[in-house]
Amino acid sequence: MQYYSTNGKAPIADLHKAVVKGLAEDRGLYMPESIKPLPKEFFDTIETKTFQEIAYTVADAFFGEDVEAEALKKIVYDTLSFDCPVVQVNDNIFTLELFHGPTLAFKDVGARFMARLLQYFIRMEGKGEQVNVLVATSGDTGSAVANGFLGVDGIHVYVLYPKGKVSPIQECQFTTLGRNITAIEVDGVFDDCQALVKSAFMDAELNQHMKLTSANSINVARFLPQAFYYFNAYARMKALGKADNLVMCVPSGNFGNICAALFGHAQGLPVKRFIAANNANDIFYNYLQTGRYEPKASRQTLANAMDVGDPSNFARIINLYSENGQLSPEETHQRITSLISGATYSDDQIRQAMRQCHEATGYILDPHGACGYQALVEGLKPDETGVFCETAHPAKFKEKVDEILGIGVDIPARLRAFMQGEKQSTPMTKDFADFKHYLLTQ
Ligand SMILES: *Cc1c(COP(=O)(O)O)cnc(C)c1O
Repeated sequence: MQYYSTNGKAPIADLHKAVVKGLAEDRGLYMPESIKPLPKEFFDTIETKTFQEIAYTVADAFFGEDVEAEALKKIVYDTLSFDCPVVQVNDNIFTLELFHGPTLAFKDVGARFMARLLQYFIRMEGKGEQVNVLVATSGDTGSAVANGFLGVDGIHVYVLYPKGKVSPIQECQFTTLGRNITAIEVDGVFDDCQALVKSAFMDAELNQHMKLTSANSINVARFLPQAFYYFNAYARMKALGKADNLVMCVPSGNFGNICAALFGHAQGLPVKRFIAANNANDIFYNYLQTGRYEPKASRQTLANAMDVGDPSNFARIINLYSENGQLSPEETHQRITSLISGATYSDDQIRQAMRQCHEATGYILDPHGACGYQALVEGLKPDETGVFCETAHPAKFKEKVDEILGIGVDIPARLRAFMQGEKQSTPMTKDFADFKHYLLTQ
């Protein structure tokens, strides 16, 4: 499969190059040249298949041309060593629990898949040159990427995170690992971390010095595997006889997760429509209302993994529905709004949604999932069934959840183990010159 850049000014890349480079030379995002529709027979019997079987079929459509079949199967099966169950919350609302992986957040799947795929390509190449992964995180990406890549030969990971703006539990998940993982504590906000990473990729001297790649959801190997979830959710809903008029609702920040769902839709996944649920960072919501995309500085909220003021994957969504720029902005906007609606919630509304859900159903939401739940409560039509993603385990935001709901959320053993480690991190300013100097001395 060939990958082109959303900015249209970079050379076409193969999968290996797209994964290693992350971002194209023109700062655009890589897009697969075609999206193969899956055959009708696949959907006819999908409910009889396991998550791993379903995921392999989806992965084969995206990556089958570039990765040897047995190796791809192994990558998929290794990545999905845990389940993503669908749980009924009330009459017509279900949740897709994406938090049963090693770090209890949905990014585990993309991160681990990318680590395995990169390792596959490094081994195929056989040059033994170290690859350095740079990743900016507002909380959950860092832990998922660090754990996905931990101990993988030939790859070193630098996690950049905003000082004081990630939860203590999140922080210990990527600052206590050591080995091939370095945590960098940036005196700034998430967007500063993201800007440092983007500048590093564009810096010729740095790229001479070391081989750099990104593991943010701009990387095709990280965001695309998230499509697996939605096929699995559809299968499980079909098994329950609830797959008609399905609405998928995705709490969104950088829009990688929902973008993968939309790629799934383009492969033929029978979902009626999608909702992108946001916290107070309402850039996409405003785009849907006005047709204008106006990035802003990110705002800090209770759902901090979604505090993004300029969502990277917006460019992919526009590219997908404009058919690589062939349709006008008006037509593109019209296509997008006919399939996707938006919602935006203040911290107070998030708290209320968490309380209302807990009282009415007993289900404990985390602040991110709460946006998804609330968007379905407000947005579902009587003949529709809704599935929202619960993107993190509530224990990852224990202080907030306990306070809001007046309960004591149990901390799973996996999470407790991280909290025993010792924090190690390198302080950094948000000035690119400092970061560059640091990397040049590594
Ligand atoms: C990353 C994250 C999100 C947002 O996902 P995007 O792919 O960036 O839209 C939502 N919830 C949690 C818990 C996350 O970690």
